[in-house]
Amino acid sequence: MTVAMNDLNTIRPATREFLAAAHANLIGGSWVPAASGKTLSVVDPATGQEITRVAESDAADIDHAVQAARNAFESAAWRDMKPATRERLMNRLADLMEQNIDTLAELESIDNGKNVAIAKAVDMTCAIDVFRFMAGIPSKLNGATLKPSIPFAPDARFFAYSHPVPVGVVGAIIPWNFPALMIAWKLGPAFAAGCTVVLKPAEETPLTALFIGRLAQEAGFPDGVLNVVTGYGHTAGAALSNHRGVDKVAFTGSTEVGRLILQAASGNLKRVTLELGGKSPAIVMPDADAAVAIPGAASGIFFNHGQTCCAGSRLFVHKSRFDEVVDGVANIARNMKVGPGLDMSTEIGPMVSKVQQDRVCAYIEAGKAEGAELLVGGTRPDSNGFFVNPTVFVNTSNDMKIVREEIFGPVLVAMPYTDLEEVIAWANDTPYGLGASIWTRDVSTVHTLAHRIRSGTVWVNCHNVIDAALPFGGFKESGWGRENGVDAVKAYCETQTVCIAL
Ligand code: ADP
Repeated sequence: MTVAMNDLNTIRPATREFLAAAHANLIGGSWVPAASGKTLSVVDPATGQEITRVAESDAADIDHAVQAARNAFESAAWRDMKPATRERLMNRLADLMEQNIDTLAELESIDNGKNVAIAKAVDMTCAIDVFRFMAGIPSKLNGATLKPSIPFAPDARFFAYSHPVPVGVVGAIIPWNFPALMIAWKLGPAFAAGCTVVLKPAEETPLTALFIGRLAQEAGFPDGVLNVVTGYGHTAGAALSNHRGVDKVAFTGSTEVGRLILQAASGNLKRVTLELGGKSPAIVMPDADAAVAIPGAASGIFFNHGQTCCAGSRLFVHKSRFDEVVDGVANIARNMKVGPGLDMSTEIGPMVSKVQQDRVCAYIEAGKAEGAELLVGGTRPDSNGFFVNPTVFVNTSNDMKIVREEIFGPVLVAMPYTDLEEVIAWANDTPYGLGASIWTRDVSTVHTLAHRIRSGTVWVNCHNVIDAALPFGGFKESGWGRENGVDAVKAYCETQTVCIAL
């Protein structure tokens, strides 16, 4: 099968103009090229062709940006800005994103490969929503009044209060699978808390970060509150997580890099939140509604071409329903339209890069070598783009590489189980704990299973449902801390106690 090319003639003039512009880092309110003068290529994954170039930054640029973020953090313009003003500013950024939603969606689609209609309806809509949700928080942040007893000073009286203060300069390091949404997940709570940010987008997908940098300037954020520095992880990313001037790193990406971030953060003991990998189970109970569970399980793995940290990549189906459900999912996979993101009928876009395509295909080969049976897919279509056909394996066992490791592609492993205890043990037999879904009509099963599964989110009769109001994050090696929800802002605050002798 030959896949169509992305047709760049269809994009809007504003998107075209942005792509054609010279790109630089946003540091302290100015657009500056990398100090080295180097640039890196941004590639359309649907064609393998370069679409533009951005700054290839290194430690010198990161240092410059961290200084700018520190200056902004200490400036009266930001420090003394009233919470209500900060809220308006964040809402103005959300308004500008809404006004530019088509351009943002096109940039995301060309950069990442995802369907442009999904980029608009899901990625951008959710990102805007997160900014609006977080914009409601600054005026409601509060602390506690305390009446200490101070036993060693029996005759003295004291009054005390504790209150949240912004943690300081935040280094935000984000991945390529949902670039704009991950920007909102980091910037939203950081700005709500009153922090300043150095944002390093993934080298594969820097475009919406740069565009949102423009919009933040237009919205009126004081210079240096948001800095955007593009570059590779092992240089720019490592420099940011190492930097002693950074108070907190907020990271989303692989568990492997999460560990490196943690080591780098130990220098100045910066605060760290990590949203990492997953190998999420989707569990279909004997009583599941096939009309819900089959398309739901398919979407759980194939949404965003499987490049989702909480993808339902392990499908456990009760043996009484196994053939029906797995054949149904395989049938959906077989009929999915593989194509470029700018074609709105595309259901499976390309992997983000050649490296990722090769990685996913290597897993498929490993699965075959270990004796798993391919029900559908397992091939790359004929294209210069980085496509992988949606793939379903059966006859798998828990010790296989394709069952244990995160593939981050459209590859599902399906296994039959016999009883509840067996499926609970299998679902939890993973170092990860990000998401899980249960497909059933039995309310007792819902609660029993939900409480026994060690994962940050448990979905029931749905999968991959995220919202600004719902805490999201991992148990075990899937991460530290939670994104979204009111409490996410606490991860960007220190608690300060003020104790007053009366
Ligand atoms: P993925 O496997 O999804 O590509 P990564 O964890 O490699 O995810 O990348 C996520 C983000 O982490 C990207 O912005 C990348 O540049 C950055 N990154 C990669 N390596 C490092 C590193 N050693 N230190 C800091 N950031 C890194």
